[in-house]
Amino acid sequence: MQIITARRLIAGKGKAVWENAALCMEGGLIKAAGTADLVRDQYPNAPVCDYGEATILPGLIDMHIHVGDTQSRPDVAQGGQLTKILFAAWELSQALKRGITTVRDVASEPGVCAALRQAADMGFLKIPRIVTCGTALAASGGHGWPLKSVEEVDGPWKIREAVRRNIREGADWIKAMADETADMPEYTQEELDALVQECHRHGKKAAVHASFASTVDMCIKAGFDTIEHGIFLTPQQARAMAQKGIAWVPTAAVCTRIAREREQMMADRGLAAADLTAGNVEVFLAAQRANPAADVRGLTAEQLERVLFYRKVCDAYAHNLKPCLDMGVTILAGTDMVIGGTEPAPVEEEIICLTEYGLTAVEAVESATGHAARVLGLEGQIGTLEPGAAADILVVEGDAARRPEALRKTLAVYQNGNQIAQ
Ligand SMILES: [Zn+2]
Repeated sequence: MQIITARRLIAGKGKAVWENAALCMEGGLIKAAGTADLVRDQYPNAPVCDYGEATILPGLIDMHIHVGDTQSRPDVAQGGQLTKILFAAWELSQALKRGITTVRDVASEPGVCAALRQAADMGFLKIPRIVTCGTALAASGGHGWPLKSVEEVDGPWKIREAVRRNIREGADWIKAMADETADMPEYTQEELDALVQECHRHGKKAAVHASFASTVDMCIKAGFDTIEHGIFLTPQQARAMAQKGIAWVPTAAVCTRIAREREQMMADRGLAAADLTAGNVEVFLAAQRANPAADVRGLTAEQLERVLFYRKVCDAYAHNLKPCLDMGVTILAGTDMVIGGTEPAPVEEEIICLTEYGLTAVEAVESATGHAARVLGLEGQIGTLEPGAAADILVVEGDAARRPEALRKTLAVYQNGNQIAQ
């Protein structure tokens, strides 16, 4: 039995934040959490470790990662399957050290998650708990089709067959790809309906990559459990999702990061920040289309289009994310950081980003803890600091309830009550 104390504790459920807090754990589970006086009175003989001016919170849950993804590491991709698995093990162990204790893998190459989970179960690999979708299902030529983590499947019965096969291979969820970079649904309604029905018939949940309005409408109708990205989600769609119990994983940080990098690229070419409005980029683009030889500061039309696209995405988040939350839709933190340049599974960055788009710090933490656990069907087991839950705990320096940047300074991580070496 052990007690840890700190200035405050975020329970991961609603607005519950305790000042002068303590948590008692035993046998890998939480025994009690609340004010230090109460917890220490309850367990007077337990040893106490005090973290001072820190915040105790549940281990974080990343709802959107691709285990072993090598899009940002072509060197690893060349190394073959075994190298990829070692890379995935390293990435996940790094994430665990920063306090990410559970991840939902939303498409990975066959066998990768199974091998990692087996190694963790056998006790010789310390990584976050993995919930996996296995390989994603896409229409022929659809989003991600060239990747080994994506399987092309068409037609309702072939889709049902693929769902059954994925479940047989150990998938906890099923992931569908429904669109890419344009408002062009890749699957028909009949196909999406078949996928969700088959998945639910087996007691599993379904996630879908859907970004644009008409595809999102189709996915809401089909009844997916989570919509990934939904970058132009409207409050009306959010209300429909809330009514049907569909959660939203906006992956806001990765999109915002891409937008900022592209805008930096323009700034490097002498285009002032004031020029980087969607309207002005459209003017640049029109000039180049009219005269392809015209010099638009050395940028191709494609580069300009991407700048414009990600600017629109960020504008949409800034405009819609908070109103969508107010419609009652559950927002979940997912990183999808396949572009590299960050720590593995940087959930803390997604939490900080969500606060920039209007969530409070405690709401944003809940999107990566209690809400995520509930959507995973693991409510009461992980994601909240309450008696009976796994002692998956993160301790960070400073006040994470007011300043989410505190999440960048990990002091300690416990997984099932065992402290993870930093
Ligand atoms: Zn993804």
